[in-house]
Amino acid sequence: MKSKNFSTWLDNMKLSHPLVIAGPCSAETEEQVMAVAHELKNTDATVFRAGVWKPRTRPGTFEGNGEKALPWLQRVKKETGLLIAIEIANAEHAKLALKYDIDILWLGARTTVNPFAVQEIAEAIQGTEKIVLVKNPINPDLELWIGGIERLFKMGVENLGAIHRGFSSFRKSKYRNIPSWQIPIDLKAKYPTIPIINDPSHICGNRDGIFEVSQIALDLKFDGLMIETHCNPDEAWSDAKQQIKPARLVEIMDELKVRKDRFVKEKSISKLNALRKEINAKDDQLLETLSERMALVESIGKAKKESNVAILQNTRWQEILKKVIDTGEEQGLSKIFIEKIFKAIHQESIAHQEKIIND
Ligand code: PEP
Ligand code: MN
Repeated sequence: MKSKNFSTWLDNMKLSHPLVIAGPCSAETEEQVMAVAHELKNTDATVFRAGVWKPRTRPGTFEGNGEKALPWLQRVKKETGLLIAIEIANAEHAKLALKYDIDILWLGARTTVNPFAVQEIAEAIQGTEKIVLVKNPINPDLELWIGGIERLFKMGVENLGAIHRGFSSFRKSKYRNIPSWQIPIDLKAKYPTIPIINDPSHICGNRDGIFEVSQIALDLKFDGLMIETHCNPDEAWSDAKQQIKPARLVEIMDELKVRKDRFVKEKSISKLNALRKEINAKDDQLLETLSERMALVESIGKAKKESNVAILQNTRWQEILKKVIDTGEEQGLSKIFIEKIFKAIHQESIAHQEKIIND
């Protein structure tokens, strides 16, 4: 799958880089929509977002104005020159988005989880030249995210992009949706031409973390940001806690540092190359040590087999874990990191011993 290059669609549409998509969570009233749009007109935002059909967790809350709000967005485009973007969640939404000439359509997290819904949308917008962005599914499943993008691509939708909005989790966290950055990084590695936009609003679930998450996204070379913006956030009809005022968006964009793609100065390049050589040598050493450790594990496996002893020796494992965490922390490595690494090593060791014992 090779979607049209992001820079091509950015150039074609004369969009900024990083792309800034801003606007309210929901299109509440025509006045509210116009007020936010006019305030965003002179900011870094080049695309205006607003939810017209709102997927809500419980019924009885505001579920969007539907088709009635689409002419409001057309007015935004006419009066401000901003491109307009909405979420579509089924074939009917998709057809209406095309009918009202919406520039950018996005599939929400609750839609990407459902291949039937994605397929239905892909068929409804077959061959469209509109930009279509696919939010990550609610659960941390890279394949499902890719599957959504592929379904659209197979139907001739080529101006594709992804939106990273974090993943729902039972784990207690400062985030509303945990970013799990490695997942969008893996997506980018697999499909380098597909642009990824970060949505710090739905990741944070509050206003405070938006700058920090946006900066991480730019440091990781995300192609854009989607930030929920409202003139009166506290009174918003949905996602009130996470929306920011347009003036705050301007501050955030001013403070964010956009990093260069690569080192350009000769001196920095040779320094970097020397450091990279050292890193490569360290990686070789790490692999050698791991493989030597595994050889020892296998000898222990043989001894366990001879004496018919169980593989898991929990007391010993707990001792190892405690020791490595203590030593690691003394050397400036975090407990979480050491735990992850040593649990992985332990699992690989068990797998090697399983093979020996059951051979
Ligand atoms: C939204 O963008 O307002 C939205 C509903 O987002 P998500 O699909 O990420 O929950
Ligand atoms: Mn929202």
